[in-house]
Amino acid sequence: MKTPDWRNFVFDDGILPEPISDGNRLVLWLPRDSDGGIQYWERVGNVVRAETSAEGGLFATPATSVRARQRTRGGLGHFLRRLGQSKERRDFLLPNGIASEQCGERRTDLLLVWSEDMGGLLDEARVKSRCPEGKGFQKLGPNLYLVSGVETPRARVEPESQEQPMASPRARAEQLLASARRAGDRPKEATALTDLGMTLLSEGDTGGAIGALESALAIARELRDPARESDVIGNLGMATLAIGQPAHARNMFEQELAYARATGDRFSEKVALERLGLALGSQRDFRASLSVFEQALALACELGDRQQQANLLWYQGIQYAELGQRELAITKAEESVSLLKVLGKPQAAWYGSLLQKYRMGLFAEIAGDTSRRASPGFSPESYLGGSIVASVMTSQAAAPTNETGGPGLLRMALSATKAMASFVGSGFKTATPETTQKRLQTCAGCEHHTGMRCKICGCFTDVKARMLHENCPIGKWPR
Ligand code: SF4
Repeated sequence: MKTPDWRNFVFDDGILPEPISDGNRLVLWLPRDSDGGIQYWERVGNVVRAETSAEGGLFATPATSVRARQRTRGGLGHFLRRLGQSKERRDFLLPNGIASEQCGERRTDLLLVWSEDMGGLLDEARVKSRCPEGKGFQKLGPNLYLVSGVETPRARVEPESQEQPMASPRARAEQLLASARRAGDRPKEATALTDLGMTLLSEGDTGGAIGALESALAIARELRDPARESDVIGNLGMATLAIGQPAHARNMFEQELAYARATGDRFSEKVALERLGLALGSQRDFRASLSVFEQALALACELGDRQQQANLLWYQGIQYAELGQRELAITKAEESVSLLKVLGKPQAAWYGSLLQKYRMGLFAEIAGDTSRRASPGFSPESYLGGSIVASVMTSQAAAPTNETGGPGLLRMALSATKAMASFVGSGFKTATPETTQKRLQTCAGCEHHTGMRCKICGCFTDVKARMLHENCPIGKWPR
């Protein structure tokens, strides 16, 4: 049984759905008790890719939840500074923009139950007869109940074992595509084609990437699924940018941005703004690019995505360098390096050294010692190759010249980062199997996960999760 498209459900008053761009994932915030001025919430989500069972016209699928309390002191600024730094608990932003923090263990004894008659009213007696072992029954909408206290053997999402050799992102995308086609699952086929397109793009096969993405777009349109269509269009724009058609790409990013704003999806808005800034830079409209990066930066700051802040600051440095405004270029690049240092990113040293050369008006060739490549069993380079924004920025980098003080030196930091990941001793370390497993488990249940790619950062999570210094862009990975 396929999962339903959760966007077709209606919820009772007071329940806050998280904005999602993929109908496979449902996340709801249920108001709970309040105590001493503190409002408690329960964040309930379906288990992505878990089986849906059918019986007597009712469907059921496992869900999990965490309890959270709404912060009343410290304010949003305090919260955002802490975002992602918690060791024992997770911080959240509710869909209404209010900060909260986890205050209980994760529950896995939950089921979401609905009727096949989407237009009808589901009553509690019917749900109880479907789930007689249930201990709690809460109506979430006209056709949706949350049942608690049930045995849900499939509720735990088993991560892929770290002990197993990691399939290449392309092989994994091809597996997912074949499986979706076997099952006749057109939405999953579109997602798998999108993932495949992005893996091909990261490998430099732009023709293959565009072919896969155009097939995904045709399916999304056939399904009349605007959210999926917008996701594909944004990624197709990146492939179009990579083949040197920035005007065409810009048009696609503007469509992606308009959809994200219309649906209030701020994560997608942030991604679309970053991409639009790249297209404008490619069109040599550096001032417009700076302005759009500034909007993306404000959003990244608001959403607590500090890695993206560092990237955007560096991109702004490049635009200022293109405009010949060296002081501003240096200021932005310095801010980026400082943030990378605070985040403990190994590339901070490389960025800093290139900035120093730029500051001195020097040209330096970035050379790698290929005799010290990392072991073939693990290739963080493939993650950086999978970081699509970095890939496209790298492909836009001008060939090395003897020009002094030009933006090429700053652009080279991106290609240097990609190269350095392959060298032993560069500072890139792998995470322990336990850490990797926890990260993969979190991604597997995340609404921003396509099955292999994080829509927020564009990375292939199976690779990214194995890199010690990496983070979830919204602080969901356990520490
Ligand atoms: S890194 Fe994983 S958990 Fe974090 S937003 Fe991306 S998919 Fe979700």
